[in-house]
Amino acid sequence: MTVEIICVGTELLLGNIVNTNAAYLAGKCADMGLSCYYQSVVGDNAERLTEAIRQAVGRSNIVILSGGLGPTEDDLTKETAAAVMGRELVMNEECKQSIASYFKKRGMEATENNWKQALIPEGALILENHNGTAPGMIIQDGETHVVLLPGPPLELIPMFEESVIPYLNALGPGVILSQTAKLCGISESKAETMIRDLIDAQTNPTIATYAKTGEVHIRVTARAESEKEAKKLIKPVVKEIKTRFGYYIYSTEESVTLEKAVVDLLMANHLSVTCAESCTGGMLSARLINIPGISDAYKCGYVTYSNKAKRRILGVKKGTLQKYGAVSKQTAEEMARGAAFASKADVAVAITGIAGPDGGTEEKPVGLVYIACNVKGKVTVKEFRFSGNRAKIREASTTAALMLMRQCMLEYFSKVTFG
Ligand code: ATP
Ligand code: MG
Repeated sequence: MTVEIICVGTELLLGNIVNTNAAYLAGKCADMGLSCYYQSVVGDNAERLTEAIRQAVGRSNIVILSGGLGPTEDDLTKETAAAVMGRELVMNEECKQSIASYFKKRGMEATENNWKQALIPEGALILENHNGTAPGMIIQDGETHVVLLPGPPLELIPMFEESVIPYLNALGPGVILSQTAKLCGISESKAETMIRDLIDAQTNPTIATYAKTGEVHIRVTARAESEKEAKKLIKPVVKEIKTRFGYYIYSTEESVTLEKAVVDLLMANHLSVTCAESCTGGMLSARLINIPGISDAYKCGYVTYSNKAKRRILGVKKGTLQKYGAVSKQTAEEMARGAAFASKADVAVAITGIAGPDGGTEEKPVGLVYIACNVKGKVTVKEFRFSGNRAKIREASTTAALMLMRQCMLEYFSKVTFG
């Protein structure tokens, strides 16, 4: 099966928005074992879009279009696709109802052009939109499937996962399924060495490793007759990977991020948390607060950028700053102790480092970062030497802090030791 992606929108052509939908859709199609040979971007222009769709259906089985399903004048994907496929647009009562209830729920009035979204190409399959008003749809003609999806990623992604993946999986002779083991605190080369024999021996499922800002992901992908069969093939391999990596794996679930794993650990141990940040300027707090339910654990955080703030708010000693400097093991430790004292939190994490581009010396180069984690008075401090620009160093520091938090909590509460 071949698939082709067409993203519609003049904004994309002008570079006003980044085409993340194409990257997302291509990745998902590859996961499903579909071959994608073409991707294109077309502006909001009926003539050129007609040409693009015509060409796509002439050479690919599945054509996925993103964008231009909205209620406004320039949204013309549905009209154009219907015309190319020789379908009339008909008013769909169910869609009309769901648009009406979408507006009613929000206490708003639908405008006349909203009803345009209830016009559906004859015979098309309707894909529900739980996050917006424009329904998605699939027009099938023999071996050809034209999938129309709304442009906003917050609508496109859930619709694709809920409706399109099952539809496409049902088309093929089999299904492709994958599960990812997410690791932290280990390098990609070490991780790969530890499963070299598995990688070399496997054909179905296949095993691949990916590095992702401080993390390593190991993806196990199986091809089988049914979803059940694929799961059966994946299970023992993931089990073996779990045995080999133990606590280096923070999750094998798609939706669990490193910060989610850290928050889960805080919750499981009924711990409160605080962050004292210098060079990351609140990025660690932001990542933790991104996780719903964190209010049970997170009370307050500190961005202490100047030496004075480190002294006044966190009680870092003047002598420590003078003798060792703000970017030092000693300062990081005092920050983590002071933050715990000031907030009464069980876990306090402190980050101090040189993000650059200026401020580095031979002894303390740009990228030198100290992170301290204080779990109920037991403080662990680690030195890191990151490379890259300011943004990259700050991001790497934040990820490293999450990893250290996880490690320290596991060592303290589960008596796990990390090599
Ligand atoms: P709407 O009902 O919001 O108009 P639509 O289906 O008509 O949805 P567009 O008008 O094409 O979609 O795009 C709406 C918004 O969705 C864009 O402003 C942009 O923020 C986002 N978007 C559209 N296409 C893409 C894309 N390919 N990648 C990432 N974001 C996109
Ligand atoms: Mg639109």
